[in-house]
Amino acid sequence: MNDPTVEATQLFPPAYLERRGFYREFMEKHLLPHERGLDSEDEAAQAKLEELRELAREEGLWAPHMPPEAGGTGEGFLYYACLNEEIGRSHWAQLVFGCQAPDAGNAEVLHQFGTPEQHEQFLEPLVAGRTRSFFSMTEPEVAGSDPTLLRTRAVADGDEWVIDGEKWFSSGAEGAGFAVVFAISDPDAEPHRRGTMILVPADTPGVEVVRATPVLGHAGRGWNTHCEVRYDGVRVPLANTLGERGDAFRIAQKRLGPGRIHHVMRWLGQMQRAFDLMCSYALEREAFGGPLAEKQTVQNWIADSAAGIQACRLLTMDCARKIDEDSEARVDVSLLKFYAAGVLNDVIDRAVQVHGARGLTDATPLAQMAMHARAGRIYDGPDEVHRMVVARRILRSYKSGERWQFS
Ligand SMILES: Cc1cc2nc3c(=O)[nH]c(=O)nc-3n(C[C@H](O)[C@H](O)[C@H](O)COP(=O)(O)OP(=O)(O)OC[C@H]3O[C@@H](n4cnc5c(N)ncnc54)[C@H](O)[C@@H]3O)c2cc1C
Repeated sequence: MNDPTVEATQLFPPAYLERRGFYREFMEKHLLPHERGLDSEDEAAQAKLEELRELAREEGLWAPHMPPEAGGTGEGFLYYACLNEEIGRSHWAQLVFGCQAPDAGNAEVLHQFGTPEQHEQFLEPLVAGRTRSFFSMTEPEVAGSDPTLLRTRAVADGDEWVIDGEKWFSSGAEGAGFAVVFAISDPDAEPHRRGTMILVPADTPGVEVVRATPVLGHAGRGWNTHCEVRYDGVRVPLANTLGERGDAFRIAQKRLGPGRIHHVMRWLGQMQRAFDLMCSYALEREAFGGPLAEKQTVQNWIADSAAGIQACRLLTMDCARKIDEDSEARVDVSLLKFYAAGVLNDVIDRAVQVHGARGLTDATPLAQMAMHARAGRIYDGPDEVHRMVVARRILRSYKSGERWQFS
C-alpha cells in the first residue's frame, strides 16, 4: 500500500512528520472508533468529546495552531498544515485537539491585536479550552460578501460601546463564552474605516442567541451550530475594542486569511479520506464482470482526484510557507480557497458515486463529509468573490504595465 509518509518526506521536515504520526496514532486509536457516536451529538457524545480533549492535552497534542507562549504546541503554519492532513480527516478532531474553527482564527487575532488585559480575559481561557468563542460578522439582510454593507451599529457612549444589530451564521455561538463582533462604529468614515471589532461576553445583557439555523437540514448542537444572534442595546467597555477603532476591515483580513487556510488544511484530510474510501471500494465492489476499479470512468475519477489533491497540498504548503514568512499572501490564499473547495467537493462527490446508494447512508462518513464540504464553497467568502479578488489583483499588474509575477 502507498505510504503517504514516504511521499511526503520531501515536502515536510522529518520532525513535523514524526509529530503527525502521533496525531495519526491518537486518531486511529481513540477518535475514529467513536466517530459515529460523536455524530449523534447526544449527552454520551458530549462526554466522550470531553474525555478525548483531556487525553489530547495529556498527550501534548493540544492547540497545535498556537505557539507555546500563547498556550499551544504549535510551530507555525507549515507545521500546522502537515498535522492537518491527519486532524482534518475527521470533523470532530479539530475540537478534540483544541484547534477548532472559529476559535482558532479568533485566538490568532487576539494574540496579534489584543491588549495584555484582553489576553488574560479572553485569549488564555480560549486557548486552554475553558471557553469557546464565535465570530459575528454576517447579517441576514445584506450581502455578506461585501462587508461595507453591514448594518450592526456600535455607538460610543461615555466609556462604553452600545451595540445593536442582527447577525446570523455565527458559528458555535450556542454555549460560547464570548463573541468577536464586527460592528459599524463610524458610518461617515471612508468605507474601509467604518467598522470596529469588539469583544462581547455572551452573558452581557442584550445578547440573545435566537436559534441555531439548520444548514442542509442539520441544526447541530453547541460548537456544531450556526446561529442567529441579536444584539439589543448591548453595553461593553470601550476597552473591549480589538485593535483600534475603525480597524475591523484590517483585522478581518488578518482573521479571515489564516482562517481560510486553516479550513483548506482540514480539507486536505477530508479529501484524502474520501480518496482512500473511493479507491478501496472500487477495488472491492464488482459489477459487469469485474471490480469497479477496472472501469475507465472510475479510473479517471481516481486520477483526477489524485491530481487535484496533490495540487491542493502543494498550494497549501506554498501558502503556509509565505504566511510563516510574514506575507499576507492575499492572492495565494484566495486562489487556494476557491480551488481547494472545488477539489474537495469533486473528490467527495466521486467517492459517493463510486459507493452508489451506500455513499448516501451512514455506512461511511461520506454523506456527512459531503454536507460539510458544500458549505466550504460559501463560508469565508464564496468562490466567486475569491476569483474576483485573484483576477483584480492580477489585472492590476497588467494595467500598470507589468506582468503577473508568480512566486
Ligand atoms: C457553514 C457556514 C458557516 C459560517 N460561519 C460564519 C461565522 O462563523 N461568522 C460569520 O460572520 N459568517 C459565517 N458564515 C457566513 C459566510 O461568511 C457568508 O455566507 C459569506 O460571506 C457569503 O455571504 P452571504 O451568505 O450573505 O451571500 P451573498 O454575499 O449574498 O452572496 C450570494 C452569492 O452571490 C454571489 N456573489 C457575491 N458576490 C459576487 C461577485 N463579486 N461576483 C460573482 N458572484 C458573486 C455568490 O455566488 C454568492 O454565493 C458562514 C456560512 C456558512 C455556510
